[in-house]
Amino acid sequence: MPTIRDRNIELFVSKDARTIRLTNRATGGRWVLDGDTALGDRSGAQWVRYDLDKRSKPGATDERGTPYAYAFNKKAGSVEALGDRALVVTRRGEAGELVMRFELTADGCRVSIVVGRTTVTSCALPGAFRPEGAAAMAVALPKNQGIWHKGTGGPFNHDLDREGHGGFTMPFFAGIGEHEALLTIIEQEHDARMWFQKTAGGRMAVSAVADASLGRLRYERSVLLRFVEPNLTAICQSYRQYVKDGGNLVTWEEKIAARPNLEKLFGALMCFIGYCQDADLDYAASFKRLKAMGFDRAFVYPLAMGNIVEGYPMGGRPPIDIRKHLGLLAELGYISAGWMWTEDVPADGPDIALNAEGKPFGGWTIDEYKWCRGCPVRQVALSNRIQDERMKGFTGHHFDVTASRGGMECFHADHPLDRREDAAWRRKVLETGTKRGLVVSSEGFWGWASPSYDIGSVKIATPVHADWYTVPMTALVYHDSLVHDWWEVDNYNNPHHRSQHKRGERYFPLGGGWQRLQAAQDALAGQPPNVFPFGSQYAFVEGVMSKGTELYRYNLDMAEVKEALALALPVARLHRRVGKLALVSHETLAGDGSVQASVFSDGTRVVVNYADEPRESAAVGVVEPTSWKAV
Ligand SMILES: [Zn+2]
Repeated sequence: MPTIRDRNIELFVSKDARTIRLTNRATGGRWVLDGDTALGDRSGAQWVRYDLDKRSKPGATDERGTPYAYAFNKKAGSVEALGDRALVVTRRGEAGELVMRFELTADGCRVSIVVGRTTVTSCALPGAFRPEGAAAMAVALPKNQGIWHKGTGGPFNHDLDREGHGGFTMPFFAGIGEHEALLTIIEQEHDARMWFQKTAGGRMAVSAVADASLGRLRYERSVLLRFVEPNLTAICQSYRQYVKDGGNLVTWEEKIAARPNLEKLFGALMCFIGYCQDADLDYAASFKRLKAMGFDRAFVYPLAMGNIVEGYPMGGRPPIDIRKHLGLLAELGYISAGWMWTEDVPADGPDIALNAEGKPFGGWTIDEYKWCRGCPVRQVALSNRIQDERMKGFTGHHFDVTASRGGMECFHADHPLDRREDAAWRRKVLETGTKRGLVVSSEGFWGWASPSYDIGSVKIATPVHADWYTVPMTALVYHDSLVHDWWEVDNYNNPHHRSQHKRGERYFPLGGGWQRLQAAQDALAGQPPNVFPFGSQYAFVEGVMSKGTELYRYNLDMAEVKEALALALPVARLHRRVGKLALVSHETLAGDGSVQASVFSDGTRVVVNYADEPRESAAVGVVEPTSWKAV
């Protein structure tokens, strides 16, 4: 029987390649690949749907015409040895052939697609492993700040691509067994997804999916499988080591050495002041009051809009432009950021990206004005030009959607791109800010781009669900390199955007205005607080972009703003203390995730209680309801 092993791992593959099993030799734990999850497709389409409950026939599509992946291990496959540390496994079926190399590495097993011998254009890589005999298992998933799914509850199917709101923030996940966790690291994340399903029959399945690039697999794809201890700290530390080994972790210390201005970020209030100019607000007096309330540092955004189009109305109001206060903010010690928005461009210009049919991608719409998506190649020049002209004199910039929108293939003859190039050019867009010495923020937390920016966003505000709870995975990997903030309008005090595309009602709900839960999560992860203390902003009517906009406003005398700032101040002070440090460990102290603890590299320990009643922890004593304590 084909078996290879080293000190850590044993890999067994049956002769017909239908049974694949990994054994952790240290614990004896055995993990079996669910053969039904060997799904693939040969259509060349993007975003083929993976669904165990709908393993369809070749050619079957959903209501939008997107193909379903289907079983392709129906015919007997084969396995051949390649020396004593690798097996080459071939799967055969209606979708064609998939040839994978399973190779033992120093600390795990790498599974790679042998592209030249493979005829499928998309496939599960390699499919879902589970502990032998287990139908369901817990899963650690880097969805936003991180999710620990207990494996309980009814069916779901989530398709996560590298996208800032609904997708994954870092390219790894882990299934949790009794003796160990099986960590999967996706090594080429730009043409990959995570398929995370609980079937109607109660099986948990989590697998990487290798997607077509320009219609084919085109280049080698691989995942790295590692056994680690079955806890969140071990899982995240293992991935962090992988990032460090690749030379892709740039610490705050290194970033500050290159951009001393960044020092002002530690202990800052993330201070969003709205897209719209508030004609009735005294901005200068409001900033001074904020300072007098104890906020000696703040990242204030946006002071003005940096789109190629100027003066478009939002909710009937002009875009904010308070550049005249740049000097005041410098005096107060605050970082002043503009809104760099080059991702959306006018439809008739040379900067638009084109799809395979030669058509532009639809972009943002505000009131009567519609944009199209700009190609990142063109955005670099555009971003430089805008910053040299009207967006100069700032100490920071926020780049709208640059690190958030999913990967794009551009078919414009002047600037064609695949998704790997799209990712590289997006980093260059962010670097138009860092090269100017600015503090750079962008929508979306994107580990891969962490050397090129400082603040990523979008988190889940409600930490405890019946079947999952949030955990600080992005902080365990990147706390000493990249801040993970809330989406710009999901401020502690601001619930207005829960309705946008019904984002507050999703399985992993997004939105703001869950003040205490947001502050507690920030404390646990050592992130800065985020408040919308004053200014005006539009929201879509009933959360629907096409229904138009309506305006709302905040000021420092409103009760919810006072509450938000009172919650924010201690979180900002904690960030001043631990903001540059690595988050070295995490513990779940209650089975439902309602009590959690974290420890930073200086020994600071934070305990949170998300429950509606007081809870006790040995380290810090009683923690009040929906609150936190640090020692
Ligand atoms: Zn292009």
